[in-house]
Amino acid sequence: MKNFKNNINTKRIIVVDLYAGSYNEKNTGHELFNLVRNPVDSNFYGYCPPRDGIALTKFGASKNDEYIDNVLVVYVSKKNKSNNREIIAFCLNARIFKTGQSGKGLSRNFIDKDGKEVISTYSVKSDNLYDLRNRFNKFEIKINDYNNKMFRKQRFYCGTYPELDIGIIDYIESVLEQKAILDNDDSDVQEEIQISEPADTEIIKKSSEKPLNIENGNQGKIIVKDSRISKSALIAANYTCSINTIHKTFITKQKIPYMEGHHLIPCTVTNSEYFMKKYNKNIDCIENIVSICPNCHREIHYGEWKSKSEKIKLLFRKQQDKLKQIGILITEDELLKLYKNG
Ligand SMILES: [Zn+2]
Ligand SMILES: [Zn+2]
Repeated sequence: MKNFKNNINTKRIIVVDLYAGSYNEKNTGHELFNLVRNPVDSNFYGYCPPRDGIALTKFGASKNDEYIDNVLVVYVSKKNKSNNREIIAFCLNARIFKTGQSGKGLSRNFIDKDGKEVISTYSVKSDNLYDLRNRFNKFEIKINDYNNKMFRKQRFYCGTYPELDIGIIDYIESVLEQKAILDNDDSDVQEEIQISEPADTEIIKKSSEKPLNIENGNQGKIIVKDSRISKSALIAANYTCSINTIHKTFITKQKIPYMEGHHLIPCTVTNSEYFMKKYNKNIDCIENIVSICPNCHREIHYGEWKSKSEKIKLLFRKQQDKLKQIGILITEDELLKLYKNG
């Protein structure tokens, strides 16, 4: 069984079917705001069709509880020209209410199909929402594999289709993992590296030995990295691109050639914990950081597999011995696998 790193409560999942019924006919209804950040307080409020009330007792709440926290809300909708559903969004750690809450004061007014102004109620409240509508490969629920009445009530709860629960959780884990790889060294991190001091020799020497610095937010754990070590990696490479030293960039405000730091073994929570456990090494270390130009870097994160994997292999050949020196014995195949998911 997988280890859930992203605070997914595997016992509290609700799958909600959106945009069926009258919404579809008139394109208006309480679900209008489900995937939209609320303009008043920036939470995500969700209406749970068809009548908002949610059976909290399915999540182990007592009959008197008005709400329950830490629920994974998975929104699905009908796939084009098919009865199958696909996951279009999810909220981690949402608060779920037993009865529909008034959306008064939350700018949730709309004109219903009879032409009346209505305030949309809600029974899901979350500070996060992962919108997957533009994703290429969506998770599909093939209705024929289950009970074709599974969405008769426009929702079902975890435990109803246990093997589907596992599939959904695996999928959401992979989405979060992919996002973590991309966030891992986004522009904020790169900016921090630019302005950072380099690490002193003692910090560099001990960088692979230090304990993991994990922060726990509502959306899961994150690894806090030391930008000084990345800065030292850029200096060690003399601000050249490890893919090819002829790659030129520009001169920064700090009067140095602009290069980015990339963790060859991506510094996700899963990877960091894995390498800590297996080798007792922190992968936020100088041996694992390469200096690359922004163009190569973006390709490694966003490029098509063939060319991107060539670059990863090239970097691996350069870093392999350094990783070996600190006792991390990773093969090229193993490294590529860490990128394959992302
Ligand atoms: Zn990177
Ligand atoms: Zn480059």
